[in-house]
Amino acid sequence: ATHFTIEGLKAEIEGKEILKGINLEMKGGEIHAIMGPNGTGKSTLASALMGHPKYEVTEGNVTLNGEDVLEMAVDERARAGLFLAMQYPSEITGVTNSDFMRSAINARREEGQEISLIRFIRQMETKMKELDMNPEFAHRYLNEGFSGGEKKRNEILQMMMIEPSIVILDEIDSGLDIDALKIVANGVNAMRSEDRGFLIITHYQRLLNYVKPDFVHVMMQGRIVKSGGPELAERLEAEGYDWVKEELGIED
Ligand code: ADP
Ligand code: MG
Ligand code: MG
Repeated sequence: ATHFTIEGLKAEIEGKEILKGINLEMKGGEIHAIMGPNGTGKSTLASALMGHPKYEVTEGNVTLNGEDVLEMAVDERARAGLFLAMQYPSEITGVTNSDFMRSAINARREEGQEISLIRFIRQMETKMKELDMNPEFAHRYLNEGFSGGEKKRNEILQMMMIEPSIVILDEIDSGLDIDALKIVANGVNAMRSEDRGFLIITHYQRLLNYVKPDFVHVMMQGRIVKSGGPELAERLEAEGYDWVKEELGIED
């Protein structure tokens, strides 16, 4: 069963400490949400977990099924089953969406076990239909000229195709209208499984109306300062973050 742990994770960017000791434990089947004001380090956490070179981890441990994630190179982390849907997906000219996804799938498989082209195309077509995506997006360069909402759907398509064991969604809901939000939520719900954990980073509670989290964590100033159940997200939506600051004596 999938087991992901983050212990005392500290990370800095250009010498400035952003993550000040993050602790989190996730098991397969669980959905965790991280909420928090802008600039508190949510995206930094996601990037540091994926091994983005801009973020220097200075302390802490991260394990996936007992294996040391921080020791792994970026591609090894993906191969081990970590996946990040980025807040601002980058455009990659020269690589088509379908080529990208097929190599990502095959990177997770043993040599000789690669997905056949026919099977890959069939799966991709089915999933694109589920996400209400135009089939032509398969052949476009990755994210090039995609609208904000199309990029987000495409991140979900990648998740569905790659079948990771830990899925991190960084503000997947931003820039989505309500119909697209529901489609994205359906995609996430369809991927819920006992051997997959989700870490949903979001600024708003909106998405959590459609994807019910088991745990909600509030992140402020580089730390998880409060954890609870779905009711915590509802209270944050209704009352904002000030009460958390007051309760914990956090100064701006
Ligand atoms: P959140 O996702 O919670 O809005 P971020 O992780 O994006 O927060 O940012 C946390 C802090 O790190 C902010 O103060 C931000 O300005 C800083 N930061 C993030 N990325 C960079 C970067 N590439 N260069 C410099 N500072 C950065
Ligand atoms: Mg932000
Ligand atoms: Mg962010």
